[in-house]
Amino acid sequence: MHSLIFRQFILLVITVGYLSTSEAKTYALVADGLIDGKANNVLQDKAVIVTGNQITAIINIDHIPKGAIKIDLPGTTLMPGMINAHEHPLLYKSDYQNAHLQASSAYKALLGLKNLQSLLSAGWTTIRVMGDGDVYYANQDIRKVIDSGVFLGPRLTGAAHYISITGGGGDVNYFSPEQNVIADGLIADGPDEIRKAIRKEIKYGSDWIKIMVTGAFMSVGDDPKNVSFSPEELSAAMEEASRHNVPVAAHAHATDGINQAIIAGARSIEHGSYLNEESIALMVKHQTYYVPTIYIGDYYANSGKLLAQSKNDNFYTSFRDEWLQMIGKAYKAGVKIAVGSDLCGSAIPSHVCAREFATLIEAGLSPMDAIKAGTIVGAELLQWDDRLGSIETDKLADIIAVSGNPLEDISALENPVFVMKDGVIILNDVENYSAFNH
Ligand SMILES: [Zn+2]
Repeated sequence: MHSLIFRQFILLVITVGYLSTSEAKTYALVADGLIDGKANNVLQDKAVIVTGNQITAIINIDHIPKGAIKIDLPGTTLMPGMINAHEHPLLYKSDYQNAHLQASSAYKALLGLKNLQSLLSAGWTTIRVMGDGDVYYANQDIRKVIDSGVFLGPRLTGAAHYISITGGGGDVNYFSPEQNVIADGLIADGPDEIRKAIRKEIKYGSDWIKIMVTGAFMSVGDDPKNVSFSPEELSAAMEEASRHNVPVAAHAHATDGINQAIIAGARSIEHGSYLNEESIALMVKHQTYYVPTIYIGDYYANSGKLLAQSKNDNFYTSFRDEWLQMIGKAYKAGVKIAVGSDLCGSAIPSHVCAREFATLIEAGLSPMDAIKAGTIVGAELLQWDDRLGSIETDKLADIIAVSGNPLEDISALENPVFVMKDGVIILNDVENYSAFNH
């Protein structure tokens, strides 16, 4: 009995020691190449020096300071931790609306934390939550326990709920009128209800507002080609959020919805499926970020996994090629494109999320710009580029290593072999170490 307790105590000391004393440790990370998130080429012969939770130097490998713990990562390339600008950690099944109705907020929180830890192990060190299927505020609580060091997980930011009209993409539209259910989204109609919904979001910890400007593909009973909110409601939402200095992310498929949201002042357009030339010009003019979330459509096309499968397939198969061409045009015009995966980690295995990079390359981004879309551009979108998104001195040590040269094979991003967040080693395949197995 005593020896068991002693063994557990020793294990605890080892585990905590590995994690928390990293603040005092200095690491020298050495790989075959370095993508720093700024330069357009892979840098050679560099060591990244990390002390505590910060990058303190990028130096020639011949000048590694004495006392630094050298971490050799042969056959790999170092790059900034990936930033996922569009995720719903609590949507734990592809059939997400029924799943929402079947689980408590606490249950979703427990699964959501596990999901986020999987995403972190897969190299996603920062995640923007784009509203979630939750009556309460589980993501805000998960963020608290991660930020206070109780649990390991990615950096979180974002909105607790997606705000939707009655009958819109965030409502449950397939029950009889007699049934009174609380929708997966937050339902608000009219400027007054929208203002109150936004104030409540902010009160309980949302640092983004997510608004369903149009219908959605994956929900039942609404139409992505319809604009949900009136111009009056939309401008009330933007005005209310901006008075609190909280940015708005606009889910928008229909062209009019995209363009109205940009003009009204959304910081980012999510999906933007039916963007046109005017949308591109408006995004350039208003410096709006664009998070297309392409791969999730590929993943679910004809999958039979969705409640709204036929709606999703009908739209998706008819416009994918045209959409990718427009994304390519937006990229060439200078629109700032960021990576978002949309429903990854639980319903979809976490390593699959990084396939979004390949779809962006298919749309016309260069491999390096696709990587920047998931690192430095994502950090700029979040207004965290002073501390994240690149491997530079004084930035936070969110660093991953992927096999080979990802510019030659972007699928390397699907399975990072090394993950560090905030100076803490989460995964090191070379040493067969995972923070979650201890
Ligand atoms: Zn989404």
